[in-house]
Amino acid sequence: MFTMTIATKPIYTGKAKDIFETEDSNVLRAYFRDSATAFNAQKKGEILDKGKVNASISSLLFNLLEQNWIKTHFIKQISENELLVKRVKIIPLEVIVRNIAAGSLCKRLGIKEGKILKSPIVEFSYKNDELGDPLLTRAYIKNALEITDDKTLDYITELTLKANKIFKEFFLNIGIKVVDFKLEYGFDKDGTLLLADELSPDNFRFWDAKTNEKLDKDRFRQDLGNVEGAYKEMLKRVKEGSKNMPTQCSMPNTQHFSIRVQVLPKQDILDPQGQAVEKALISMGYKNVKDIKIGKEIVFKITAESVEKAKIEAKQMCERLLANPIIEDYKIEVN
Ligand code: 5GP
Repeated sequence: MFTMTIATKPIYTGKAKDIFETEDSNVLRAYFRDSATAFNAQKKGEILDKGKVNASISSLLFNLLEQNWIKTHFIKQISENELLVKRVKIIPLEVIVRNIAAGSLCKRLGIKEGKILKSPIVEFSYKNDELGDPLLTRAYIKNALEITDDKTLDYITELTLKANKIFKEFFLNIGIKVVDFKLEYGFDKDGTLLLADELSPDNFRFWDAKTNEKLDKDRFRQDLGNVEGAYKEMLKRVKEGSKNMPTQCSMPNTQHFSIRVQVLPKQDILDPQGQAVEKALISMGYKNVKDIKIGKEIVFKITAESVEKAKIEAKQMCERLLANPIIEDYKIEVN
């Protein structure tokens, strides 16, 4: 059972959340406040009960992602306004997905709000209030800011598009269009990439599927009125959609798994080592040998909550270090 002492002084105060340490150095407590900001904190206000609503919506949506094998920092909701989360080192990127044109995309490109995009767009902004969270190119991320590398960006993009698919399906069932949203990622103490921050009408644009009524922070940004009502309506619908979902158990038991990863050059990639060995074998008289590929096998043990989660973790390791997915194929065996 998880126990904790209540720290009273936050280690971090954000625009809408306070973060506290617990007696476990790898676990933090996130307290969701009612404060609301927009336009890089130039507009400030309070939305009655927003903290409670956002903590509950976040908790249900993190659970939805975990059920679909996306690893998040979420552990459990411990009070109306509070979540326990794993401590992560946040990557200073705002990862934004867009399905329908709105907000800064319309401003930047002169596109009319509501245009359905040909396919979802993933974009990265620099998480930096002083600079106004500027849009970044990959070269800016890798070579100027040196935040992270191509493999991590590819993996974040893959996870983000997967989350978008899960959210679109979930919200469609409760009569909501997911217009766009912002995610943040971080690494935990073991170097595992986790989806972090919050999932709520503060960082999503939600439109009613029938009427296109805005049910998110745009009501506050654009002074549309009934902000509290919109947030509460979203909580009601998310609860409805989550009715039959199993709830995430806190601090689940872990098991040990043996992982065997086999890495080989892709079929159409030149493999000089394989070719040299093939030539040598043929010259030794083994004339029936062909298509030799030389790769490597990596074996290790990990602890995880299930076979599926062990596989996901091993896949992350392959994508980020053990293999080069551009020129190599890999196969993972979990026992
Ligand atoms: P836009 O770039 O159009 O302003 O925002 C795109 C999406 O990302 C919207 O759903 C918006 O709520 C979210 N978003 C962008 N920047 C931030 C931010 O700094 N904080 C939060 N909470 N959400 C953001």
